[in-house]
Amino acid sequence: MKHRLLFFLAAACATYAQQAQDPEFARLVKEWTTKPEFVSPLVDHLPKAAGIPTPKDVLGYYVGTPKKLTHVADLLRYYRALESASKRVKILPAGRTDEGREQVVVAIADEDTIRNLETYRGYLAKLADPRGLNDQQAKQIAAQAKPIYMFSGGLHSAETGPPEMLMELAYRLVAEDSPLFDQVRRNLIVMIAPVLEPDGRDRYVDWYYRHKINEETEADRVAGPPYWGRYIYHDNNRDINYSQVTMRNWLKFYLDWHPPIMHDLHESVPFMYTFSGQAPQNPTLDPILYAELPWLSNFEMTKMFGYGMPGVWDHGYVDMWSPGYLGFMSSNHNGMLRMYETFGNGGANTMKRSVAPTEGNGGGPNQTTREWYRPLPPYKEVVWSMRNNTNYMETGVLSALEIASGYAKTLLENFYEKSRNSIQSGSSEAPFGYVLPSGQSDMTRVAFIVNILRLQGIEVGRATADVKLKDGTFPAGSLIVKRNQPYGRLAKILLEKQVYPDQNLRTYDDAAWTMGLMSHAEVQEISDKAILDVPVQPVDTFRVPGSVQGDGSMLAVLHNGANSLVTVRYRLKDVKVEAIEQTFKSGETEIPAGSFLIPSSQRARTEIENLGLKAVALSAAPSVPRHEVDLPRLAMFSTWGSTQDVGWVRYAFDYYEIPYDLIYKERVRKGNLRDSYDVIVIPNQGRGNAKSIVFDLESKGNPIDYMKSQEFPTLGAYGDSSDITGGMGLEGTLELDKFVKAGGVLITLGISSYLPAEYGITQTVDAQRTSPQFYAPGPIVEAEITQPSNPIFYGYPNKTVPVRYANGPLLRVPQDDRKKQVLMRFPGTEKSVLSGLMKGVAEIQDRPAIVEVPSGRGRVLMFATNPAYRWQNLGEFNMLANAILHYNDVPKASASATAE
Ligand SMILES: [Zn+2]
Repeated sequence: MKHRLLFFLAAACATYAQQAQDPEFARLVKEWTTKPEFVSPLVDHLPKAAGIPTPKDVLGYYVGTPKKLTHVADLLRYYRALESASKRVKILPAGRTDEGREQVVVAIADEDTIRNLETYRGYLAKLADPRGLNDQQAKQIAAQAKPIYMFSGGLHSAETGPPEMLMELAYRLVAEDSPLFDQVRRNLIVMIAPVLEPDGRDRYVDWYYRHKINEETEADRVAGPPYWGRYIYHDNNRDINYSQVTMRNWLKFYLDWHPPIMHDLHESVPFMYTFSGQAPQNPTLDPILYAELPWLSNFEMTKMFGYGMPGVWDHGYVDMWSPGYLGFMSSNHNGMLRMYETFGNGGANTMKRSVAPTEGNGGGPNQTTREWYRPLPPYKEVVWSMRNNTNYMETGVLSALEIASGYAKTLLENFYEKSRNSIQSGSSEAPFGYVLPSGQSDMTRVAFIVNILRLQGIEVGRATADVKLKDGTFPAGSLIVKRNQPYGRLAKILLEKQVYPDQNLRTYDDAAWTMGLMSHAEVQEISDKAILDVPVQPVDTFRVPGSVQGDGSMLAVLHNGANSLVTVRYRLKDVKVEAIEQTFKSGETEIPAGSFLIPSSQRARTEIENLGLKAVALSAAPSVPRHEVDLPRLAMFSTWGSTQDVGWVRYAFDYYEIPYDLIYKERVRKGNLRDSYDVIVIPNQGRGNAKSIVFDLESKGNPIDYMKSQEFPTLGAYGDSSDITGGMGLEGTLELDKFVKAGGVLITLGISSYLPAEYGITQTVDAQRTSPQFYAPGPIVEAEITQPSNPIFYGYPNKTVPVRYANGPLLRVPQDDRKKQVLMRFPGTEKSVLSGLMKGVAEIQDRPAIVEVPSGRGRVLMFATNPAYRWQNLGEFNMLANAILHYNDVPKASASATAE
């Protein structure tokens, strides 16, 4: 036995030693790596393999070449060349982006595994849903299975290195001969998502070649392009409800293949941070996961310190609280999210970087100090190159593959155990489930929640009869989510109230996301175990059919808070629609204020039914006060430097079919806004103050254009500019003021509400700041409607509503005006924090949440909240939709507002 082993090793060494190397690669890597300690023996060489193309063979340059970035089509061209040359590779389709680019995943393993990929997919599917298997059977499957270890890069387009590095990784995985690579190919299925946001990648690469390729120093650095993908920027990693087509495709891929590990490669802090899942941690996720994460990240640190590479650390950065990061699709589904941040320059130029915070560069957390989790810290100053970035990331990734391939069975058993534990915890620990009762006045909100749960692979059923539980009685047709299912833990995480574990801990993103509160839908947590036995019919997609009761020449479409009410108005834009201002009854049906009166037609009936609305046919118009719901000429203002939160509002408007012009400083400065528009919405944007909205990107003398050209076809999308710097300036604010005085309605959301206050468009309203002790990472808090008859509250029958509030302005209205101008306020008590964390809640006590201020012939509507936040707080959206639909109908009594 011993003899044979020796023979094998000798034979193996002989084979490995024979592999020819590319001397040019080794020479250039040495040249591009800025210090000898910034490379490892894993990546300082490139073997040659007959017939297998390297990235350079296809692209003409090595990965890590200074000033070279690769467009999506060329990335795919490389992977396709690799696939046609080797039976170790298979490319799997994963859909198309918003802009029509291909999404693919590249699978790499030994030939036999690739040939039997479907079989391995089947094994993982069983481990992901082990119902019906006992432990022994599951472990037998785990013994035959292989874990998929999936890497992804390019979610954030400015983080340019990972999509480059992944090509070289793919090549090595296919071509390199060594015991390590053999073990990886034999024991794992490596998958690579070459670029998670293909639209943004192409736009960023174009931008790099247009504006950033000549950057030599930190001071030269130009801001990024105004857009990555179609709507959102960095928040593609915060799209908890998978609103974006591209991100939804990745989730579908995940649920088709169940990779037990997803490893998302980002770029920011020096030199490399490897995520270990620190506190605050979501306690609902499996303890095994919290042990796996530091196990793997510590292994990588061990290896990289062994190679002498400084600046690798694994604590003190991102935590495990919010489930909304894209890669969390894995940990949320009993897998494991891994993540790196590697240092990068936002392009492919080599440049000197000051890493430690100094007075000049803002003084963020110091990531160059020695700490227990950073025993070999990054240098305070460094010349950094693209190749350094590749070396670090690739060395880390290969170390991760070393341990994962060495412990493949452990990882598979863990995956199974996490799945099993999720099912078991749902049958042994309360809450045992959730009920979304049928018969809620607006079931479209329930449909929103149910369909997101379904998208996430969570099983939902409809009760076939009335449900009697200790927690209450619910009518037949109620939606039932039982916890004893593979993704029962995720259901709990999404539906429960977030109880923040420690007020002294900060979190990287949101503290709250409770879907029922965000949507203003009733979701009942169930402590009665009997829910597990409630007979249900499984729901695939939950559709709410609209209804029209009775016959008559006029339809009263109920304003029951459905967001699709605004859609029906726009779909029938050529029809005269009126809104009633007082509730009345038609037979047994209460028709609430804000309901529409529409002449009956087949078309109107069809739209009402399609949109899940309820209507009652009337023989004549009721004798209650009403007004015409005419449609405004609508604009949405965006800075060039902060388009993301605008993007979320654009997404919501597009989704609900509200047409608008997207305008920038160019249009504002041109003036005569009132000639073109009735309403201008300024979504939340900027860097926390009004100045950053007014002056936006600093002009450094040279104009920075964002224009489409033959050479740069992706630039100039969603608006163009010959110079994106400088902002609207004081002249712009003056034009906004003129717009309002001439009868326009200006609506500001969140941070943007500083603008009218601080630039005197609303002279009496102040916007103040919270104290440094105040901390509100997006909790859901209670707000009280103080002017229930204002049309913006049509569809809100309750006095208090849950709203999301982060660090928006603290508005202040003079005492005498409060009664008239404050439409909604924050009680600001401890018990008004409904989910998540608000530290220093007293600071918002009795502060206005929404203010309406007349000015000249127009008015300004200021939200301290953001009613269109990341496609989450859809319950608040009607406040904005109503404000648009009834723009010239409020306040009726005030002489200063005009109905044009
Ligand atoms: Zn990132």
